[in-house]
Amino acid sequence: MKKSYLIIGLAALLAIGLAATVWAVTSHPSSTSSKNSKQSKSSKQGLPAGVKTTDWDLVLVNKQHSRSSEMSFEQGHVGDKAVNAKIQQAVVDFMNGAQQAGYATTLVSGYRSIEYQKEVFANVLASNKAKGMSDEAAEKATKAVVQTPGSSEHQTGLAIDLAGNDALAKYPGLDGAMDQFASQQWLIKHAPEYGFILRYGSTKEDRRETGIAYESWHFRYVGVKNAEYITKHHLTLEAYLAQVKKQNS
Ligand SMILES: [Zn+2]
Repeated sequence: MKKSYLIIGLAALLAIGLAATVWAVTSHPSSTSSKNSKQSKSSKQGLPAGVKTTDWDLVLVNKQHSRSSEMSFEQGHVGDKAVNAKIQQAVVDFMNGAQQAGYATTLVSGYRSIEYQKEVFANVLASNKAKGMSDEAAEKATKAVVQTPGSSEHQTGLAIDLAGNDALAKYPGLDGAMDQFASQQWLIKHAPEYGFILRYGSTKEDRRETGIAYESWHFRYVGVKNAEYITKHHLTLEAYLAQVKKQNS
């Protein structure tokens, strides 16, 4: 009996994944144009004036750029969530903007310490093992959904998980398919006006460059000028920083 549930569950997951892929391919207006714009990626023109890879709002954290010690910065709060104090107002403005457009939102996550990320990782790993997975399988399954401690961008205080309330009600565990909701679409479209980018995009290139699957809820503060440039040119933060580095070298 248990096995058949597992198979049904897997089939359902596959169907959802397939549906999301089909949706991403058919209804993402940017997916067709992104190829063309990426060809002009090496162009050095038009980068925001004075931008440097060492700017506080461009700090890069990913699997290749992980940190072993906690970052220190002044914390601000939005509701019960902590963020870097420097972006507190931007988060409030972003959420207010959505509210004014008719979309109530929830800040699901803000700053998460490396220590906290370790706990999250350990808990998911333990629950995977409890399901009967081998150590290796459990680790792999955990890494697919939880960032390895030290490589989560949430430790910067510059990343937020923000969801439309209706999208969150349907997908309480967060899911790329939340972008079916107008609320989430509004957030994705208007994020740059508040200095945020949708950090983990839906294209194959996005995934290759970020190492992370599509997350329709994870926004990263980079400042308005950077956000507008990155979004206009369909770049990942990784690709943008490579451009900045090249220009300044
Ligand atoms: Zn996130």
